[in-house]
Amino acid sequence: DFDVLVVGGGPAGAAASIYAARKGLNTGIVAERFGGQVADTVGIENFISVQYTEGPKLVNSLEAHVREYNVDIMNNQRAVTLRKDGKVQLELQNGAVLKSKTVILSPGARWREMNVPGEQEYRGKGVAYCPHCDGPLFKGKKVAVIGGGNSGIEAAIDLAGIVEHVTVLEFAAELRADAVLVKKANSMGNITIITEAQSTEVTGDGTRVNGINYTDRKTGDKHHIELAGIFVQIGLVPNTEWLRGAVELSPRGEIIVDERGQTSVPGVFAAGDATTAPYKQIIIAMGSGANAALGAFDYMIRN
Ligand code: FAD
Repeated sequence: DFDVLVVGGGPAGAAASIYAARKGLNTGIVAERFGGQVADTVGIENFISVQYTEGPKLVNSLEAHVREYNVDIMNNQRAVTLRKDGKVQLELQNGAVLKSKTVILSPGARWREMNVPGEQEYRGKGVAYCPHCDGPLFKGKKVAVIGGGNSGIEAAIDLAGIVEHVTVLEFAAELRADAVLVKKANSMGNITIITEAQSTEVTGDGTRVNGINYTDRKTGDKHHIELAGIFVQIGLVPNTEWLRGAVELSPRGEIIVDERGQTSVPGVFAAGDATTAPYKQIIIAMGSGANAALGAFDYMIRN
């Protein structure tokens, strides 16, 4: 039996397990794939105090740091259910049931993809999902943002300050973003918003993105825009489907946490991109993992 069982081996889970182990707690970490989204990232320039690193390198350092402590790492294991009766019981896909006094959920999230030709081929070569991360790589260039919801319009406003020009392509006839954001976007001289635009293909020269094809859904006309980057902003989906009914989730499926990282279930904490934390970044996920581990420690000394 564990004192603290962490679900997820991304930056949030790694930080949580180190903080828990450093309190002398018997700690385990269950991860479907250690490293999480960081393993899929090429350049990282905003992990403060490290001017530049790459995803796989950061994953190696995360794992090495966790291995400095007596943490039971169960990699390539997927958690499928969680329930609490007395202790928290976590069932894995392989049938094993792990018991722990506290659990820290950090299963992360995944970007919703366009599912058009070229998207996978040019991922990290012009196709991007995170304006905070990759925006500066497109300084002075033309980019598109796919999606006219709040995250799409926020991304367009953010990018407009860095790049030469932003075209927003929205599938629906109306933007779903808040009116203040749309107003701000319209006031910037270098954002063009096109609605009823169905993105159909990411084009490239074999090594990098050079444009996007879309169809005007009203007229059926096909268009091509030349550009250097495409930011896909059609949703970040938390990996919490398996937690429905077990802990309270927001309408978007994010785990609702308080300032100590505690969920609706006493003794069950959560951290990182899977939670209601508004901004999703490595450094923020790590901070929230540390916070949740301290929350779990505090809970244990009181119960
Ligand atoms: P994740 O990194 O998503 O990790 C989740 C972990 O949980 C994984 O180990 C996963 O396998 C595991 N898991 C999920 N479900 C289960 C389950 N049921 N059972 C067991 N394990 C499970 N942020 C930056 O700050 N700077 C950047 O430059 C940057 N670039 C990015 C580039 C890309 C392409 C992407 C996708 C993201 C980028 N981000 C960047 C965002 C950053 O990666 C995330 O904010 C961060 O990884 C979130 O950490 P996390 O620990 O909450 O979740």
